[in-house]
Amino acid sequence: MAGSAYGSGKAQDTDFRRKWDKAEYAARAKEREARERLLDINAERKRQGLPPIHRKKEEEDEPKQALKAREEKIVLDANVGKIQVVQSARQPGFYCKACDTVCKDSANYLDHINGRKHQMNMGVSMKIERASVDSVKDRLAMLKRKKEAPEKTEYG
Ligand SMILES: [Zn+2]
Repeated sequence: MAGSAYGSGKAQDTDFRRKWDKAEYAARAKEREARERLLDINAERKRQGLPPIHRKKEEEDEPKQALKAREEKIVLDANVGKIQVVQSARQPGFYCKACDTVCKDSANYLDHINGRKHQMNMGVSMKIERASVDSVKDRLAMLKRKKEAPEKTEYG
């Protein structure tokens, strides 16, 4: 019994390994295919008297895409509980609640949230938030005191 359990575990391990090899093989095949397709395209372009397409350009575009995605992620993270993103037909873009400002795209928005004006407005709104929390705490403390010493009148 124990032997068969061990045996199946080993089989899974090999299976995993085979899948990994298969995935890598597929990736390589895809790359080779893309390279061959590019050769075909460039042969065709040469016939038409056009300059060839360079594969390098495609590779350069990819990191830019990744960076863009990351910037958008930052924007979304910054939005949590503070800033609303609105898409309105009248004023499309990113709306900053703290500044009551609309930025036309994510790049502008990113500039905006790193800007001095925004930081100042965020500071002010954080101060207000803090003050309201403190006032609630004060009130709770006051109520607690009242409960602990009910004989002492507040308006005596
Ligand atoms: Zn702002």
